Amino acid sequence: MSKVYGNCPECGKPGVSRERRPNGNDVCENGHIYPSKTAILKAEPNLIPVDTERCQTIVQEYNPFRIGGPCHTAVQCLNKAVFVVTETTPNENGETGAMSLCAKCLLIFQEQIPNHATAYVKQTVEDWKSDQEKGLVKAG
Ligand SMILES: [Zn+2]
Ligand SMILES: [Zn+2]
Repeated sequence: MSKVYGNCPECGKPGVSRERRPNGNDVCENGHIYPSKTAILKAEPNLIPVDTERCQTIVQEYNPFRIGGPCHTAVQCLNKAVFVVTETTPNENGETGAMSLCAKCLLIFQEQIPNHATAYVKQTVEDWKSDQEKGLVKAG
């Protein structure tokens, strides 16, 4: 709920209340009072959680005999997830995107993303999971 009020410009904590008047003030978790218009608004997290069971690549499926539907459809790859690639640079929300890939899709990924070696960290699903358990990588 606190997300709608944004965050305190002084300490970054979420706002917990807002005055219902023009040019009103917000109060953060730490009790700081600041004009509502200075609250720092963060976009809602929109990252899809990593699927450690199944490759998350969206692939084109071609079926020339599909009746009553398009020949090309986008479907999630059915292969077992083997690797997880994590962005090395967080987005403007401080989130780091990650997705799972099968061995085949990893090759396509590396072909299509020229800077993959510096822009992403590649791990096996097992290594990624153990990092998650140790709290080294943020879920997302
Ligand atoms: Zn504050
Ligand atoms: Zn795949």
